[in-house]
Amino acid sequence: MLKTNMCGELQIKDVGTSVILAGWVARRRDHGGLTFIDLRDSSGTIQIVIKNDKLNLTEKEISQIRNEWVLGVKGIVTERQEGARNSNMPTGDIEISVNELEIINQSNTPPFPINEDLSLDETNRMKYRYLDLRRSRMNQNLKLRHDVMHFIRNFLTNKKFIEIETPILNVATPEGARDYLVPSRIHPGKFYALPQSPQQWKQLLMVSGFEKYFQIARCFRDEDLRSDRQPEFTQLDIELSFVEEKDILILIEELMVSMLKELDLGFDFPLNFPLIPYSESMEKYGSDKPDLRFDLEINDLSSVFLNTSIKIFADVLKKDQRIRGIHIPGGNKLTKKQLQEFNEIAKLHGAMGVASMHFDDDYKITKSEYDGFSSLLEKFISIDELLTLNDRFNIKPGDAIIISAGHDDLTSQVLASIRNEAASMLNLVKETDLAFCFITEFPMFEYSDSANKWTAMHHLFTMPFEEDIQYIASDPKRVRSHAYDLVCNGQEVGSGSIRIHKSELLLKILQQLGIDESIAHEQFGHVLEAFEFGAPPHGGIAPGIDRIVALLAKESDIREVIAFPKTKTASDLLTGAPSKIGTENLDELHLKIDDPSS
Ligand code: ASP
Repeated sequence: MLKTNMCGELQIKDVGTSVILAGWVARRRDHGGLTFIDLRDSSGTIQIVIKNDKLNLTEKEISQIRNEWVLGVKGIVTERQEGARNSNMPTGDIEISVNELEIINQSNTPPFPINEDLSLDETNRMKYRYLDLRRSRMNQNLKLRHDVMHFIRNFLTNKKFIEIETPILNVATPEGARDYLVPSRIHPGKFYALPQSPQQWKQLLMVSGFEKYFQIARCFRDEDLRSDRQPEFTQLDIELSFVEEKDILILIEELMVSMLKELDLGFDFPLNFPLIPYSESMEKYGSDKPDLRFDLEINDLSSVFLNTSIKIFADVLKKDQRIRGIHIPGGNKLTKKQLQEFNEIAKLHGAMGVASMHFDDDYKITKSEYDGFSSLLEKFISIDELLTLNDRFNIKPGDAIIISAGHDDLTSQVLASIRNEAASMLNLVKETDLAFCFITEFPMFEYSDSANKWTAMHHLFTMPFEEDIQYIASDPKRVRSHAYDLVCNGQEVGSGSIRIHKSELLLKILQQLGIDESIAHEQFGHVLEAFEFGAPPHGGIAPGIDRIVALLAKESDIREVIAFPKTKTASDLLTGAPSKIGTENLDELHLKIDDPSS
């Protein structure tokens, strides 16, 4: 036996026991004749004490031991003396008095320290990911990931869901993101696509009569990567038959709440997740992913400025656009530089800037005069306008208002970003809060200017509101859908919908998306046909596992909770993927490379 116990699991009650341990040297200290080593294994760390002269190894051999060498240790669990205890270490009351030591393997000097939680060079971390994963933070993140998946599997199994695997080699889909394609050797010129999600399969499983399906599924999308995206990621894919939207939302709320209770990570979270219709979310927060850890709601200020002499506001109102703003209590303490950042944000979104109003510490206002108010608009704003703002927001000395005027799409983007930025500048975000909500009633369609056509906002299998079906062709903008997102702390954590289960309606949607009937049959014939064989009403959702674990691990990037992630340019620095392949392979796959750089 190479070990009888785990380093991190030994306790004071084990004092006197003989143990065999094995693990890595986390740290070593020499004290003339005595060597202290912190020995680490997957359970934690324990101090081992070597009296150099009483050992099977020579003093020289012991002195050569370095960090990350692999040791085997035979010894006795001993209580540490008063004063030598370490309350920062779970095993800090005990140590191992070593009788026999074996050097199992040596290690090169690691390219970065494994012991300390330093900020490290990304490239090195990715290249030596197996060492990066030795670090306690990464180790804990992956353990948390396991706990999350384990909980989910138990929870859904107890509710009579069954986990079914679906194919990785699929037919390419014309809608959605770009597919990762796999050339077929057997069928020259043909390709499989890796799944963007098991969407069609899970709907077909409902036609098969499974009623409650789930899968912890790997999904692949060939998109340009942002910090919270990976080319492959993991979803908790769920689908149920004979359900309404609320049944799915209740299930997910129960899953998240009971998981957070069980994991007990010290977060504050709501027991009931608020439901916010999409239009309300855009109005109040300028976004369909509102961060509800703070208020700072957006308000429509148009009515305040109906007869204004502020020319830009008057012009905007003439164009039937709106003036919207955020009242920031205590916002006057934002520095000039921070306010300038708001202008930069506005410009990034294509606006000219924002207007700000400042209410100084000596701010006061009566019906005829004011003091302590400053703004670039001061010359043009009337006392009545100021009074209306004052009463509407119950303005206190020290507050500020940030205003954006123009088209709703633009002001929403500008103010949503400023809302988040202001909250972080004013430290309104509590790290231990998880502010969940569901966004509901998404529009069925959105117009894509780049593609010059209507696209499905969630996906084309989403069920429109019954009473809006009549507007699909005549007024697509007006059609609401039974699509919903789970949002937490300003991030989309999952989305889903009640699905169409009749081919007639699916054809209608496809037509609106510019896919005529013959192409629809070519590309979606299998689904259209399946729906002709007694498809039950059904719906589902797919929370992102990476995103959830990152939130729970307080990591801002999902790469920190994925064992072997890719870089932002979709490369794997450890193995070198993607790599060139030989002409022999290319020939077999009937491929020719047309790359000017090669
Ligand atoms: N398949 C969808 C997605 O990946 C989720 C769903 O509708 O269940 O976004």
